[in-house]
Amino acid sequence: MRIADMTMNECLALLSEGHVARLACANAGKPYVVPVHYVLAGRRIYSFSMPGMKISWMRDNPQVCIQHDSIKDACNWRSVVVHGLYRELPDNEHAHAEHMKAWELLQRRPNWWEPGSCTPKDQAGGTKPIFYFIEIVNITGRRALEES
Ligand SMILES: Cc1cc2nc3c(=O)[nH]c(=O)nc-3n(C[C@H](O)[C@H](O)[C@H](O)COP(=O)(O)OP(=O)(O)OC[C@H]3O[C@@H](n4cnc5c(N)ncnc54)[C@H](O)[C@@H]3O)c2cc1C
Repeated sequence: MRIADMTMNECLALLSEGHVARLACANAGKPYVVPVHYVLAGRRIYSFSMPGMKISWMRDNPQVCIQHDSIKDACNWRSVVVHGLYRELPDNEHAHAEHMKAWELLQRRPNWWEPGSCTPKDQAGGTKPIFYFIEIVNITGRRALEES
């Protein structure tokens, strides 16, 4: 097996094929990682969440990391790591168009809203979803190739 770096275009292609990534954030030196649904558009990774720990942490510290992969087997995989910045899209007069764009992109994916809107404390209802994007600052990718 050989491991090779991926080009920027290969990294973006892998991200655009995917639906679920791990989103990592940090607060006071403590890391936190959860799976989320996402959609890539340009150099932005759109997602949504109900209020909770990751939103609170990303508001405090917008520096985040996203990892996505496609694994066929131990010798045949691709993996992308993004460093980026959390950007919230409140539904106000300044960000309404971007807020709706995020909703439109995400609603093309079946059941995108279910895991993010079903945290235990939100099941009582009444809480509004938060739309956001991660602005890609840096992206790297590696792939494993079987030697021929
Ligand atoms: C395939 C998949 C797709 C998902 N897509 C989304 C999405 O698009 N948007 C979204 O907001 N959420 C999504 N989720 C759920 C997400 O992973 C989190 O569980 C959820 O968002 C709650 O995160 P929070 O920080 O608000 O947790 P809070 O409700 O604030 O709870 C924080 C506490 O719960 C623990 N916790 C939270 N989530 C998890 C977890 N997944 N596993 C173990 N412990 C956990 C933390 O360690 C912490 O102790 C998805 C989950 C899966 C499996």
